[in-house]
Amino acid sequence: MTIGIIGGGQLGLMIAEQARGLGVRTVCLDPAADAPAFRVCDERIVAPFDDAAALEELCRRSDAVTYEFENVPGEILIPLCEKYNIPQGYRPLYDSQDRLREKTNAREHGLRTPRFAAVDDEASLRAAVAELGLPCVLKTRTLGYDGHGQAVLRGEEDIVRALPMLAVPCIAEEFMRFDFEASVVTVDDGREAVCFPVGRNIHRDGILDLCVVPADAGEGLRGRMEAESRRFMRECGYRGILAIEYFVKDGEFYFNEMAPRPHNSAHFTIEGCTTNQFRELVRYLAGMPLERPRLVAPTVMKNILGQDLAAAEAVACESREGVHVHLYGKSESRPKRKMGHITFVGSDAARYAAEWADRFVK
Ligand code: AMP
Repeated sequence: MTIGIIGGGQLGLMIAEQARGLGVRTVCLDPAADAPAFRVCDERIVAPFDDAAALEELCRRSDAVTYEFENVPGEILIPLCEKYNIPQGYRPLYDSQDRLREKTNAREHGLRTPRFAAVDDEASLRAAVAELGLPCVLKTRTLGYDGHGQAVLRGEEDIVRALPMLAVPCIAEEFMRFDFEASVVTVDDGREAVCFPVGRNIHRDGILDLCVVPADAGEGLRGRMEAESRRFMRECGYRGILAIEYFVKDGEFYFNEMAPRPHNSAHFTIEGCTTNQFRELVRYLAGMPLERPRLVAPTVMKNILGQDLAAAEAVACESREGVHVHLYGKSESRPKRKMGHITFVGSDAARYAAEWADRFVK
């Protein structure tokens, strides 16, 4: 059995690691010859994501294909989905590639979202601001990630400063004064759906910094988030893996965005759970029955960006029970670039703050 992975970043790396443990081969496609996944996959294809011939070659060499890269062009992927086994299909990618389409789809399938409006020019921006109120959040509809391509508008000055963003189609959203952010990762093979434990996601500068599991939200709310995520996935007809990010406010949750791939907020599952998101994705792709994950102990996941790499390397050299350092082996370290993560199994937020927080850049 060989699984093809479109994308060779850290997600591809961790899919390939788990595949190896299950006796499944991997072939990976990425434009960078030194992509992290190339260190562990069995075969490599170095080519751009819009190289139709190279993507077809990946499919030919694979029994099932998945993606960790979200912007594979539809005109290439759709014909491949018809010819080869890409069981998640193009649909969940298509639905998630445009924030307006994504939120409309979520709402049509019964999930609450922040109020939003399409914005294409200054007139529609001003109409959206009048409707949503200030502050609000302006985002490009496509290609935004980790806080890139978005601006919080608090007054007239911000509106004027944001006008150049309107060179591309945008969406305006009400500014949510949420209590916290959380995400639910679900794997659905069409027979059953398993969800990974819900954590509290803490962002810094628009990038995930910490994930604290379980989220101190009460079992009832966590259970409803999981049930709604499973229902949403089933009703959309999606298969495989889906991560949904929610804003949680006053005991309710609001869809923010989704990704049909493993998610940064569930990296803690590798050591913090009895089975993890990468392993269950591989089991789905390989046609193995899914396993229901269980949290081993309270767990905190800390993302390691470039500025924290040296500190993480130092932690890796220490021997501390329950501390698992993952370094992705990226050849170039930059501030704000995800270089690795550390999972602290058996740690809650207070213990992390007391024992570890000082080791990393504030
Ligand atoms: P996104 O790329 O949509 O996930 O946005 C990145 C981060 O910006 C989120 O994780 C939130 O912390 C913040 N954010 C995004 N949209 C909103 C919103 N409508 N209201 C408040 N904060 C937001």
